[in-house]
Amino acid sequence: MRACIVCGQPLDGREPWWLVEPPDRGEHDRCRDWSRRAYPFGDELRRLRGAARALGRLQRELLTTGWLLARAQRRWPDDAAQAVRAGRAALARLRQAFDRFLGGGNPLSRG
Ligand SMILES: [Zn+2]
Repeated sequence: MRACIVCGQPLDGREPWWLVEPPDRGEHDRCRDWSRRAYPFGDELRRLRGAARALGRLQRELLTTGWLLARAQRRWPDDAAQAVRAGRAALARLRQAFDRFLGGGNPLSRG
């Protein structure tokens, strides 16, 4: 049975551990000297920033679409045919924005 090189207790899979040196030298996650490691969340931070930018773009499209539809509703039935065309186009843009955002996936998923 492998043992933790820090605390000597077994690395039996009951808690997370890291392989330090193949084939069998490892340490528990809780025993690891994290201060000697690179910051472990750089990839997550980069993906979160990308998700925040995508969310900002989606929010702007949502607000613009809502503003356009509300304005047309207040003026209804003035320019009714134009309002229907513009509303359909705005909703199509919003659907595409949602599809792009949702296509980006979960920024915290691994892989
Ligand atoms: Zn340990």
